[in-house]
Amino acid sequence: MALLPILHYPDVRLKKVARPVARVDERVRALVKDMAATMYDADGIGLAATQVDVHEQIIVIDVSATRDELKVFINPEILELTGETVATEEGCLSVPGIYDVVERREGVRVRALGEDGESFELSADGLLAVCIQHEIDHLKGRVFVDYLSQLKQTRIKGKMRKLDRQSA
Ligand SMILES: [Zn+2]
Repeated sequence: MALLPILHYPDVRLKKVARPVARVDERVRALVKDMAATMYDADGIGLAATQVDVHEQIIVIDVSATRDELKVFINPEILELTGETVATEEGCLSVPGIYDVVERREGVRVRALGEDGESFELSADGLLAVCIQHEIDHLKGRVFVDYLSQLKQTRIKGKMRKLDRQSA
């Protein structure tokens, strides 16, 4: 098990579109383990493979307070968005220290493969639904900052460049 380096916005690699996983094998399961370890270590509630520079459709999520309810989505596909539009303050491990409000739908029905390669469907609402939409966006090359105004995007890019210079 290894901790993986997380790409920081506005790294252009965060814009890459992830390809589907052809086969859920040992390689994929090892990657999932590393992604989960990386997410827990960084105190995040979700991580997409794109964020660790692997451009395959893999997401790990744990929105539980106890940090012991890992959910793995391979080749996730949104079947339906349900409910009202809700505004939630979001953050992202690729945009450390930045939080802002994004509007998304309050419910989602998703189909994906699990770590065992079996297909499953899940209906979610609340924080889990928001998180699923946020992470699937990553697989499409989209970061939550993209939903904010140009002014905010410019400001956040500046902050991130400064942060990465300091830690370099
Ligand atoms: Zn994110």
